[in-house]
Amino acid sequence: MAEGEHILIVNAGSSSIKFAVFEHEMERALHGEVEGIGMRPRLKVVASDGSVLTDVRMDCRSADSIDDLIRQLMTWLENHLGEESLTAIGHRVAIGGLEHSGPVIITAAVLKRLQGLVPLAPMHQPRNLEPIEILQASHPQIPQVACFDTAFHRTIPAVAERYGLPKQIRDAGAHRYGFHGISYEYIAGRLQVVDAQAAASKTVIAHLGNGSSMCALKGGRSVATTMGFSPLSGLIMGTRSGDLDPGLMIWLLREQGMSIDAVEAMLYHDSGLQGISGFSNDMRDLLASEMPAAKQAIESFVYKVSTELGALSAALEGLDALVFTAGIGENACRVRELICQRARWLGVKIDARENKKNSTLISADSSAIRVYVIPTNEERMIALHALSLTRKLPYNRQRATS
Ligand code: ADP
Repeated sequence: MAEGEHILIVNAGSSSIKFAVFEHEMERALHGEVEGIGMRPRLKVVASDGSVLTDVRMDCRSADSIDDLIRQLMTWLENHLGEESLTAIGHRVAIGGLEHSGPVIITAAVLKRLQGLVPLAPMHQPRNLEPIEILQASHPQIPQVACFDTAFHRTIPAVAERYGLPKQIRDAGAHRYGFHGISYEYIAGRLQVVDAQAAASKTVIAHLGNGSSMCALKGGRSVATTMGFSPLSGLIMGTRSGDLDPGLMIWLLREQGMSIDAVEAMLYHDSGLQGISGFSNDMRDLLASEMPAAKQAIESFVYKVSTELGALSAALEGLDALVFTAGIGENACRVRELICQRARWLGVKIDARENKKNSTLISADSSAIRVYVIPTNEERMIALHALSLTRKLPYNRQRATS
């Protein structure tokens, strides 16, 4: 990227739009958030040195008018960075379906295909696509790139992707898509630098944040993951349930008289650590609490991570390295310790001092499995893809020489 050029990264969620701007040398120049969408939206932007560049109420016709919010964000960015300085926009998109095994430049045809996938991720996909459509109309000259949470998992073999369901249902879209792929791709790249031998062999990455999942990698490629059709499955998460018995869904709908919307809201927003503890989805609160329900929440979380570690090791037919990442994985040394205690049968031994310090390598010399803590950086991964896909476009060539 030439000096003065910038790439905008957009991660649009249900109540906020997070963004970041990368500049020359791929350094993050600023990041921020349009928060409180649907209520009292605010624009907050923070510079690379941590200073707040702006923190203001946003004007809009209605509190959830994304059009108005995107327009104001772009005006602020263009005023701050200089007009015409944004040369690409990279978006995080939940589902790319089975056909996308990597990022793509968004054309009208691509956007139409992605809109067709909305029924597979009704909570996430429409929010991810909205800014793309708005920016295509308002800034048609800026190329946009979609990076999918599902793409990295398209190397998963059919046997691990297949649900035990009738063919017509599977053909209609019932697959294990897997999520957090942008994070896994970033960590797989970092692991090559940190431990090339581990990166070339059998590794499990535990992405433990508000949303949590784990991925088994053979030679850097995903071969199994804990999330499947939706980001609800697998591990117990901040507010999401993780794996449940499908018979439980039938019972909730038929016997408990819950509506589909009420079940969906409960599974996404009131379950997981929040549901078990009854007071918080935040691991910091749970670790600091003496309440029995907080201890149960941590115990259930750790139990599920450790049993999934066993399942993913079975998928890999062995294990050489374990990597912790995301908010809990990078910071909660007590949770890592508890998970590693339950993984002693695999030959995992951690070095308590290194674990407390959140060091990169936290396993003891005598451990059969090397255990790492590697911070993830999904926005940087998206920026790298946006740069590499758009740098060859004629539009950018013109701009780079003008
Ligand atoms: P998201 O999925 O929203 O990106 P993050 O990766 O930021 O989530 O992770 C959020 C989780 O990380 C929260 O449960 C939070 O409590 C936890 N976390 C962050 N810092 C710490 C810490 N120092 N100790 C324990 N948990 C932490």
